[in-house]
Amino acid sequence: MALGLSYRCNCGEHFKIYVPKDKVYGEAVSRAVDWQAVDAREEADGEVDDVKRVAEHTGCTFIDARKIPLLRCPQCMSEVDLVNHFRARLLGV
Ligand SMILES: [Zn+2]
Repeated sequence: MALGLSYRCNCGEHFKIYVPKDKVYGEAVSRAVDWQAVDAREEADGEVDDVKRVAEHTGCTFIDARKIPLLRCPQCMSEVDLVNHFRARLLGV
């Protein structure tokens, strides 16, 4: 299942973000896994669209971290580096 991660801005705006596993796990977890291949398979299977659908159903703004690595909240203009944020959250680094 593709990573569909929730992010809540300090101002209360909710986002649902697709982050490729290679960006989060690529160097930190296991070099034995070809994370790029995992991402390519999940993207080809339409799992990014699934994340997008979940975002729409839950009233979140969908963000594709492949295209938008630096999120600027449309409400309060604060910025967050998504990959760093989720790496820290998922890996504790
Ligand atoms: Zn905000």
